[in-house]
Amino acid sequence: MEKEMFRQYGYKFIDWLADYFEEIEEYPVLSPVKPGSVLNQLPEKPPSEGESLETIFEDFKNIILHGITHWQHPSWFAYFPANNSPPSVLAELLTAGLGAQCMVWQTSPAAAELEERVLEWLRQLLGLPAGMEGVIQDTASTATLVALLTAREKATNFESNKRGLKEPLIIYISEEAHSSVDKGAKIAGYGAENIRRIPTDETFAMIPKKLEEAVKADKEKGFIPACVVATVGTTSSTAVDPVSPIGHICREHGVWLHVDAAFAGTAAILPEMKWMLEGVEFVDSFVFNPHKWMLTNFDCSAYFVRDPGALIQTFEIYPEYLKTGMDAEVKNYRDWGIQLGRRFRALKLWFVLRSYGVNGLQDLIREHIRLAKLFESWVRDEEAFELMAPVNLSVVCFRLNNGGDEEQLTDLNKKFEEELNKTGKVFLSHTSLRGKYVMRLAIGARMTCERNVREAWDLIVATARNLSL
Ligand SMILES: *Cc1c(COP(=O)(O)O)cnc(C)c1O
Repeated sequence: MEKEMFRQYGYKFIDWLADYFEEIEEYPVLSPVKPGSVLNQLPEKPPSEGESLETIFEDFKNIILHGITHWQHPSWFAYFPANNSPPSVLAELLTAGLGAQCMVWQTSPAAAELEERVLEWLRQLLGLPAGMEGVIQDTASTATLVALLTAREKATNFESNKRGLKEPLIIYISEEAHSSVDKGAKIAGYGAENIRRIPTDETFAMIPKKLEEAVKADKEKGFIPACVVATVGTTSSTAVDPVSPIGHICREHGVWLHVDAAFAGTAAILPEMKWMLEGVEFVDSFVFNPHKWMLTNFDCSAYFVRDPGALIQTFEIYPEYLKTGMDAEVKNYRDWGIQLGRRFRALKLWFVLRSYGVNGLQDLIREHIRLAKLFESWVRDEEAFELMAPVNLSVVCFRLNNGGDEEQLTDLNKKFEEELNKTGKVFLSHTSLRGKYVMRLAIGARMTCERNVREAWDLIVATARNLSL
């Protein structure tokens, strides 16, 4: 029975996926469904009797698919990509099939050791300092929370874990840092009021001098500067905080330095992009997401630390039922983060790294960056548009500008975004830079090629013309 089901539907689903990737451009990028429309098609009660996979699969195609926004679409230009790839998807199938729960070494030695090996590969690829060790977390949000918790313990001599947080600990981020730091600060007990937002320069990067002033001012007031989160590749515009001067300040004042390179980290596999990580020798912890731009399907976030001892001391638990005879010799990743139960995520990463090779990945990232530069040149040449931030990587921030005041420009660009996305041909999202409403074109889906970017540009120009008529 079971074997029959795998045979019959396994091949069928894989065939469907193969066709999906080939025909993906026929789907609207952004799902057009109205709120509640999927919910209303689903029975209010669960089925009492089992249904055939045939029936369920039909409903997948008829109900679910319509409500899917197609992240793998080559005209996906919103947010950041969350790209996948055939080797990653196929490996994920094996992971699901094995159903291994990888909390400690013994619960799947290969999962623990493969994780150790592939993260060491990633460390080398990005050029992180020798000796840094990695672990896979679900998301960058979790990794940053883990960093904030470890920084909290370091700053209080591992006392907060015992007696709770007593004195105000301060976190420093730029105005452009990701909201996950705010969330982490809430959870880790720092408190939102103890986040200092350091001003940014004209490239939207943190100004180190302002950081230093803030750290000193807090020390004078008797506060404890505990953690700086530098962003390499901000979410709005991929601005790069200067890690080296920030690192010097952290060293001097004994402050934990966490680098959030969730999106941009992948680009550090390119020799010509290594400048982004200059000063990385000062970093205590570092996160980037292979699930964004490295062809490894969500979720897979790579977190690296200089001092695994501090990480483990922060999270270690040792109940009798988890003790094994191997504990002194092996890595038990349950103590490297928040969750006990862990998915076998290293497998898909291993499949991706081996199947593309370093060169294959570099070619892909390089091409995406080239396409962004090309798009940037078109924006520069078209009078109706304005470039809103430097193009460091594969994200272009721009807006329509017809000479109106800020309020009018906001309305105009909102309308522009809506009209553009309504076509279903592309999906772009927006952000705010210094209070200005800004469109973002983020390149990074695996199948995006020059034709898609050109078509997007033609549509952008045509939509802009229609709006100004
Ligand atoms: C995407 C992003 C995050 C959040 O990533 P998750 O893995 O979804 O938590 C954090 N920081 C930056 C800079 C990002 O771009």
